[in-house]
Amino acid sequence: DGPDTLEDGLIVASHGRHCVVETPDGQRVICHPRGKKLGVVVGDRVRWQPSQDEGTIEQITPRRNLLYRQDEVRTKSFAANLDQVLILVAAEPEFSEHQLSRALIACEAEHIEPLIVLNKADLAPLFARAWQRLAPYRAMGYTVLPMAAKPVDGVVPAGCSLDDVIARLQGRTTLILGPSGAGKSTLINRAVPRAAALTNEISQALNSGKHTTTTTTWYWLDAARTGALIDSPGFQEFGLRHIEPMQLAAYMPDLKPHVAECRFYNCTHLHEPGCGVRAAVAEAVLQAESPASAGVISASRYKIYSDLFHELSAPPNYGVG
Ligand code: GDP
Ligand code: ZN
Repeated sequence: DGPDTLEDGLIVASHGRHCVVETPDGQRVICHPRGKKLGVVVGDRVRWQPSQDEGTIEQITPRRNLLYRQDEVRTKSFAANLDQVLILVAAEPEFSEHQLSRALIACEAEHIEPLIVLNKADLAPLFARAWQRLAPYRAMGYTVLPMAAKPVDGVVPAGCSLDDVIARLQGRTTLILGPSGAGKSTLINRAVPRAAALTNEISQALNSGKHTTTTTTWYWLDAARTGALIDSPGFQEFGLRHIEPMQLAAYMPDLKPHVAECRFYNCTHLHEPGCGVRAAVAEAVLQAESPASAGVISASRYKIYSDLFHELSAPPNYGVG
């Protein structure tokens, strides 16, 4: 029973202590990690021991990156080894800048490329407003793509096709995140034709027959298995507990250049005199400058910074797993 009998696998779904491992030749096997300390997540490369028709996960290959999700009660790791995070928002319902910023900070901290997609480009006035709210994010250098996944009148405005977004998924591993109603199902069902059926099969296998939609799932985009999409239903907020509050500004591209202008090397940018970050916020307000211009920090982004700084400084009131 030495390590030479172990097989390679990829975690393609995970629910509690049960997960689905995919072998290099595409077989899927239900596995359980050996011991309580071995927490596997979707995207993990593992070594596992087959036994009858199930298996035991013995080792996790070191991760390139790891993301955490936050629900009302706790923070939990849920996906690893990603190339890209697709943050889907829409003209309606109105998106939360706080959630958007959390996602971007999580990506910066783990060196994962974010891609912001704004759906429902056909809803002209609402879309224009949402596009304007995203101006600071474009000025920070983030890619923001307009999309009309399913326009009400069926007419896709120029440059807003779903296929242009799907083209950006090819050959890479992408986590998709979006508030309910933004159009995530529409996008996934087009990118992965059998998505709904696959989710059902996996949920039933992992929950011994019960139907649930809470399982984080990996979908291949192509038969050659070069590109993949990871969906984590109900996921709204990234867990950022692992980030040092003093590191936070370094993960916010609008704040980062101003940190060097602060008088104190250990400036928190909350109350210190001679703070370059607060000077950049004040300047934007005084000059009524568009927050879309480079070098300026919008009031909403500074509020997100200070809220997060306090959140990350507070003693944990929930478990980290
Ligand atoms: P999910 O909750 O994020 O999975 O969103 P869905 O994919 O179920 O879409 C939510 C609603 O938005 C549905 O009624 C879709 O038909 C609608 N929808 C999706 N894309 C578009 C779009 O480009 N324009 C408009 N007007 N509606 C859309
Ligand atoms: Zn400062």
